[in-house]
Amino acid sequence: MDLLNTLVDKGLRRELPTRDEALAVLATSDDELLDVVAAAGKVRRHWFGRRVKLNYLVNLKSGLCPEDCSYCSQRLGSKAEILKYTWLKPEEAASSARAGVAGGAKRVCLVASGRGPTDRDVARVSETISAIKQENEGVEVCACLGLLSDGQAGRLREAGADAYNHNLNTSESTYKDICTTHDFADRVETVRQAQGAGLSACSGLIAGMGEADADLVDVAFALRELDPDSVPVNFLIPFEGTPLADEWNLTPQRCLRILAMVRFVCPDAEVRLAGGREVQLRSMQPLALHLVNSIFLGDYLTSEGQAGQADLEMIADAGFEVEGTDTTTLPGHRTDDLVSVRRRGPGTELPPNA
Ligand code: SF4
Repeated sequence: MDLLNTLVDKGLRRELPTRDEALAVLATSDDELLDVVAAAGKVRRHWFGRRVKLNYLVNLKSGLCPEDCSYCSQRLGSKAEILKYTWLKPEEAASSARAGVAGGAKRVCLVASGRGPTDRDVARVSETISAIKQENEGVEVCACLGLLSDGQAGRLREAGADAYNHNLNTSESTYKDICTTHDFADRVETVRQAQGAGLSACSGLIAGMGEADADLVDVAFALRELDPDSVPVNFLIPFEGTPLADEWNLTPQRCLRILAMVRFVCPDAEVRLAGGREVQLRSMQPLALHLVNSIFLGDYLTSEGQAGQADLEMIADAGFEVEGTDTTTLPGHRTDDLVSVRRRGPGTELPPNA
């Protein structure tokens, strides 16, 4: 297919596809699916070889959120049956992180529900970061604490955080349909603050919330413009007790097309298979490894993932290898950009795709 040859060429050159090309990937037929996976797989292997980075999620604070994100089981008024607790102690979080690192995780993601942290919360998370770093030398720590206020990204960086996650989730035009308590621009601003403080930005999307193909392409293009180093792709888990409980509209084939489209749009970013992979990709998960170069290990956030051992076996069976701590995940130009922002100090992020 000319389309796929064009997309591979562009992906190898880090060149942005056109919107029509990205839309055409989502519109491919089931007969073309393996060709799409093979093409996006070439781009994945060019930038990341056959390596798979493992990430482990530690839920620092769960439930009881005042925000109303309609996909989220922790939202205001959620009837979903989830654990609700307030801040794990630093030693509890470090102990949980230890289990993930022992299972092969290279990055620990510290997640807290809520609109955003108070300065006291940032101090508390800073202690947790120190506790994890002391125990697990070389592990990357990513904080995911919601919308940041001025100065908080810098304090997290000083405490030793390597990265900050804040997802754009969906297109700017449909954001108001999934959340009314904050907007798309708030999310973009937090990602920019993280980048400006020298944190490696992690920002992605959620598919399956009733959006059109154009929305998926819009959010992928918005991510490309922000240029995060990692792009988690979540597939909606329609939790009972949330407004999206009936949104069962993904198929494994559609999930693969979405991952391929994101790979073509963000070719050199760490594209991560995140929430919903077991529920929505099911037995097609090994094929997704040809598209993503990163997954969450085992349990994550308020849903149950596959046990860690099953993930390791899937990676080996599909012919991929777990990335070790002695390997740098990102291509050289990305790590160089990050190092130069860190050298020059906060507020000096590079323009997108510099
Ligand atoms: S996504 Fe975050 S901010 Fe939104 S309801 Fe869930 S925990 Fe709260």
